[in-house]
Amino acid sequence: MSQPFKLHRLQQIDSQLDQVNNRLREIEITLSDNLPLREAKEKYSNTEVAYAAARKELRKAEEAVQSQRIKINQTESTLYGGKVRNPKELQDLQNESLALSRYLDVLEDRQLEAMIVLEQAELEHNISEQELNKTRVESEIQNQELRSEQRLLEQEKNRLEIERHAAASALLKDELQLYHQLRKIRQGVAVARVVDNCCSACGSTLSSAQLHAARSLNQIIRCDSCSRILYGGT
Ligand SMILES: [Zn+2]
Repeated sequence: MSQPFKLHRLQQIDSQLDQVNNRLREIEITLSDNLPLREAKEKYSNTEVAYAAARKELRKAEEAVQSQRIKINQTESTLYGGKVRNPKELQDLQNESLALSRYLDVLEDRQLEAMIVLEQAELEHNISEQELNKTRVESEIQNQELRSEQRLLEQEKNRLEIERHAAASALLKDELQLYHQLRKIRQGVAVARVVDNCCSACGSTLSSAQLHAARSLNQIIRCDSCSRILYGGT
């Protein structure tokens, strides 16, 4: 086996390893982040707060109506109790009773509004609770799928690492150094195939001398444009 072939083989393994590692990182992030579940929990807790606040508002409104009714009853019992006879005082009590009743209307309207707000808050709370439960189930299924994908990828990674070790040990120290240097500065691709007389990595057309040398596979030829190692084999 020629050196360009071995370098190309190493590149193939490393490219696969890069893919595996990228996917493993993605999975790790998705598993630890769990964004949909976090969002659903946050929404649920917001509606819980709103629901509790609406219940409190309704209680306050009900209490206000209740105490207004007590005031009206007290005024009316004084008015009709027979103890007050002075016409001026009676008139004042009459006026007060009317004013209290008018304000009762306002308080009852507020109570009604608070009931409507509470109904809406309860509805939203129920919906967000259902959504949270649904998201929990979906997220658990997704996490299980991701964890089994993760296990398969870890196996694949181990297999590739063994292959990589064998492929790298077939190369000379200088070749490996060049390869690693190119991987670092050329987005992980140190070895490019020759496809349609071009460097498949950067797309530049190769000279016929370069093509010939690359195809002969007996020396390391590099692309003039991107300086990657060219592999002219199939
Ligand atoms: Zn190139």
